[in-house]
This record gives sequence, structure tokens and C-alpha cells, in this order.
Amino acid sequence: MLRSVLRLGAPDLRVSAAHVPAITPEITTLVDEMIATMYAERGIGLAAPQVGVALRLFVLDLSLGRDPHGLRVCINPVWEMKEGMQLEEEGCLSLPGFTATVARPERAAISALGLDGVSHRIEGSGLLARALQHEMDHLDGRVFVDRLRGISRAMILRRIHKLERAGRW
Ligand SMILES: [Zn+2]
Repeated sequence: MLRSVLRLGAPDLRVSAAHVPAITPEITTLVDEMIATMYAERGIGLAAPQVGVALRLFVLDLSLGRDPHGLRVCINPVWEMKEGMQLEEEGCLSLPGFTATVARPERAAISALGLDGVSHRIEGSGLLARALQHEMDHLDGRVFVDRLRGISRAMILRRIHKLERAGRW
């Protein structure tokens, strides 16, 4: 089953998500549905709060499913390292149609549990570091516009409010 992805404005996107207490069959089903939803929406990452579940987990596949080893499931992720700074264009499934240049760490590492309950480390630079920071932000109720400076943030929010008023958001 595909999940519907919440858009900016939904209160569930703004919660600080809770630790996953155990990897139950319900969690496995949720992860499977999040993976299917991420691929269907052609996103490279999807965090549980984006589908209305306030738990600390996300899925990630920078290859959009093309690389059989590209999929990563990250449960209860914690930061291991963040360093440097990059400025690149970024989007989000919760803000369809909007992108902006966001400052992110150039290199980053997390450790997280996989669905098998085993802890693994994910480390990378560039797009991977950016995606890790983007998804970790979702677990703390943050979206990329929160990291923009006043004017670009205000412009995006104004356009979204316009779409909301027109019933197209
Ligand atoms: Zn996002």
C-alpha cells in the first residue's frame, strides 16, 4: 500500500519523532510502504513523519531504485560526524514543485539500525551527506525551508499560501 505524503502545513511534519522501541512486523510493513511510496513519488528519501508517523526512521536511495544496493533503511539514526559546508539545490516530497539552495555539511556520517536490527554506519559526502541531513531534519520536525535565509524562505512560503488559498496544495 502506498502512503500519502504530507505537505508543508500539516502539523505532523512539525513533531519531534520518537525513538522506535522495537522492530515489530508493523514497523517492517511501514518501512515497506515507505520504500514503495518513495519510489512511486520519485524521491531519494522519505522520513516517517512525512507519512504521518512520528517515529525516528527514514529510507533513502540516491539511485532511485536503479542500483540494487542503493536502498538504505535507517532506524533510530544518530549523528556520528558532520563537517564542512556545501551549497546545493534541494527539494522535498513534502514541498512538491519547490527547490532552493540550502547550506548543508559536505561530509556526514550516521549510525542506524537496519530492519534486521543490526547497527550500521553510513558515511558520505556531497549528495549523500545532504540527504542524511535533510532526512535527520524531518525527524526533528524541520523542513528545508527552515534553513533558508529570510527572503527566499518568505518567497516560497508566500507561493505555498497562494496555492493553499486556491485549493491546489
Ligand atoms: Zn524532505
